[in-house]
Amino acid sequence: MPNYPRGNRDLMRGINRAILLNAIKTNGPISRVVLAHLSGLSPATVTAITGDLIDENLVFEKETGDSSGGRRPILLALNPRGGFVIGVKLMEDHAVGALTDLNAAVLYKDSIIFPDGSLDSVISALVSLVNTLIYQGGIHKKQLLGVGIGLAGVVDSSSGMLRQSPFFGWKDTPLRDLLHARLHVPIHIDNDVNTLTLGEKWLGAGLPEDNFVVITVGRGIGMGMVINGQIVRGKSGGAGEFGHIVVDPDGPPCECGKRGCLEAFLSDKALLATARKEIGQDVLDIDDLIGRASAGNPAAHRVLTRAGTLLGRQIANLINILDPKLIVISGEGVRMGEAFFSALRVAVEQNVMPGLAKDSEIRIAAWEDDVWARGAASVVIGELFNSPIQKEEATIK
Ligand SMILES: [Zn+2]
Repeated sequence: MPNYPRGNRDLMRGINRAILLNAIKTNGPISRVVLAHLSGLSPATVTAITGDLIDENLVFEKETGDSSGGRRPILLALNPRGGFVIGVKLMEDHAVGALTDLNAAVLYKDSIIFPDGSLDSVISALVSLVNTLIYQGGIHKKQLLGVGIGLAGVVDSSSGMLRQSPFFGWKDTPLRDLLHARLHVPIHIDNDVNTLTLGEKWLGAGLPEDNFVVITVGRGIGMGMVINGQIVRGKSGGAGEFGHIVVDPDGPPCECGKRGCLEAFLSDKALLATARKEIGQDVLDIDDLIGRASAGNPAAHRVLTRAGTLLGRQIANLINILDPKLIVISGEGVRMGEAFFSALRVAVEQNVMPGLAKDSEIRIAAWEDDVWARGAASVVIGELFNSPIQKEEATIK
């Protein structure tokens, strides 16, 4: 059951709480007086709600060193250790998890390999991973605000249903409820690129922007969109299948069953196949391809330039449609190197409608192996800062 506020008073309090929590997060350390001024709330409301936040350990008081003779003002700051969350990235044969604080700083990380791809095995492995993270991270379960899970496929995050999974072949699986029944903590599941996008919205590059797009390059090509401050999921959670735009109907077969999708040219597997065909079977992997290009191998350079151009053209189309302020390129593909990204930028400039590109920035995200798990964690963190009217119905079980 969605946890609706009991009445208008509770709803107002919930909204005000979110306003103040966000203001403290963005502007803290900050005094109650300035907080009242910034938020437009009465000093009495600010005192009452910040009192609750202090009791919950989410906010703490600190004295400033800056005193102009009188009483030192007491400032309020967010307590990043006021609660903890776990983020998990679920892959076809294993899962990577991270226990983080409220800034999504990783305290402990671990991974687990699934003995097989059955639903029971995967659920049991995830339960074991979460329990290990709680134990090894040295926190009590009651300090855990929730577990965020990101995975490939069509995910209906509001009902917690995994509609379709390319890895496991499961359909309409109530993944959130199954995990909740075993772990008894709030669980949030979402498409992995959406979790990454929400991570950028709450804690990363997209933080100040209301209109941005995250494109992931790596095993596949994914996309997450934040439009007017809201993530766009579509009618069934399937929005953002950027990788399955058909760029050549006569192109190579794609995992989705069609031919010539963007992903059929640009996924790690597809790119490696092209590189082996054009350079030689001794190309070991994508890193080897990138290494050869930066060492001046013209064929390797050509393969990466062509790939960057192909992606850049489709990004130009995206800019024409969405007019985003920021495009974040993320995923393992951020290592693609100069040949790929300079071709990509040139193709965007050449193909975008004149006037639209000048205010759109393309940013290559920093990449570490725990980015996916941190993204999943930040979905739970984001819920903390959402006001009740922004919370989607029954998003968290
Ligand atoms: Zn496809």
